[in-house]
Amino acid sequence: MSDITSEYQGKATMEKITSLAKRRGFVFQSSEIYGGQNGAWDYGPLGIELKNRIAQAWWKEMTQLHDDIVGLDAAILMHPRTWEASGHVENFTDPLVDCKKCKTRFRADQIPPENLAAKKCPECGGELTGIRKFNLMFKTHIGPAEDSASIIYLRPETAQGIYVNYKNIIQSNRMKIPFGIAQIGKAFRNEIVTKNFIFRTCEFEQMEMQFFVKPGTDVEWFNEWKKRRWAYYEKLGVKMDSLRWHQHGADELAHYAKDAYDIEYLFPMGWRELEGVHNRSNYDLSRHTQYSGKDLQYIDQDNNNERYIPFIIETSAGLTRTLLMILCDAYDEEKVAGKGDGGTEGSGDDWRTVLRFHPVVAPTTVAILPLMKKDGLAEIAQDIRNELKEDFATGYDQAGAIGRRYRRQDEAGTPYCVTVDYETKDNGTVTLRFRDSMEQIRVPRADLAERLRKEIKAYKRIK
Ligand code: ATP
Repeated sequence: MSDITSEYQGKATMEKITSLAKRRGFVFQSSEIYGGQNGAWDYGPLGIELKNRIAQAWWKEMTQLHDDIVGLDAAILMHPRTWEASGHVENFTDPLVDCKKCKTRFRADQIPPENLAAKKCPECGGELTGIRKFNLMFKTHIGPAEDSASIIYLRPETAQGIYVNYKNIIQSNRMKIPFGIAQIGKAFRNEIVTKNFIFRTCEFEQMEMQFFVKPGTDVEWFNEWKKRRWAYYEKLGVKMDSLRWHQHGADELAHYAKDAYDIEYLFPMGWRELEGVHNRSNYDLSRHTQYSGKDLQYIDQDNNNERYIPFIIETSAGLTRTLLMILCDAYDEEKVAGKGDGGTEGSGDDWRTVLRFHPVVAPTTVAILPLMKKDGLAEIAQDIRNELKEDFATGYDQAGAIGRRYRRQDEAGTPYCVTVDYETKDNGTVTLRFRDSMEQIRVPRADLAERLRKEIKAYKRIK
């Protein structure tokens, strides 16, 4: 394991995560053969499986398990007035300074205050420009004319697509307050600083749920959603001591927000925001009422047609940022006895890299490995794979020593391996090997699917 140096042995670092992600086909740099595109990443075969499963887990949690939440998939391109109403045209800015000498660009709030005061570049000591406001929205033109009337933005968040559809959804789906709308989709921000792998990118995906409530019940619902979102991460098997709440202070609180908390995760570079849970008051629907001229009040037919503009409780998580969190959280290096676990080459202690994904999000749930290619074992293994693939994400590997193949599956985060050997031919049993404990048991082939289902349901992370 060449990338495990003694100083960092056993620890997750961003370098190791980035290198594993590339090596195993989770995440590649966008257009790498041209030198890469800043702020954009491509999800490879394992990455897209992981991303899809994280999205599915969130979607299930938010829609299937909540009778009062429905889904939506709104367009990325929206009427430009949307972004005036939302405040993004005016306020969605970062304060920027440039170094006149080395031309490096900084976010003014991210360099030491003394440098800012002395207008001195923290990199080269050159002179800094004054602070300019830089809007983070990607702006382009729609149609053949490139004039101001054709300006259109790539959405910087998915939430506005939900707000502008709230009335449609009430009417088409007869929703009654309180209810929520969930959406997963791409968002774009012209971020200036995009370091830390996929943490902050210009193109990313969000998983947002906007919950519409009666004014006066908002505090109660806000607390309820804080509880639910915390419980969700617990269910996903995330290390709970790596999560914490951060309440926005007066200086961070958006002007419209009544209260805001972030769920922060302890990434290798420190505590950073993973998800926001916000009480947005009635700001959004009031603004859209004002800018569209449409009445967006809710009419409470069960309560003498009482009218009001709902308050909104928002839960807003980054899908791609959650994927990074899951990678960091799952990453482990473990010392294992040299000859154990099917025998890796050499003797003495060995290290294995293992991604301890919850089986619900693991890219491959079960890998089928014939001990030998010959004597019909490969054919039996293929047969078993065919039996399982309708219900499980399966993998297959017949190359190399069995111990090495287990390591490869560990590194890809596959929670279960099924090994077909000569005993399988004799008595129809296979070896079921568990990623986390490396325990191996014999299971009749006929019981495999049921056993796997049970294991997935009962999964508890042991380390
Ligand atoms: P920051 O202050 O870090 O720029 P934010 O507070 O503006 O983030 P929100 O607008 O609340 O973030 O977005 C909600 C979620 O979307 C964030 O918690 C994060 O998970 C994700 N997100 C936001 N910006 C990015 C980005 N540039 N790249 C990846 N994920 C992002």
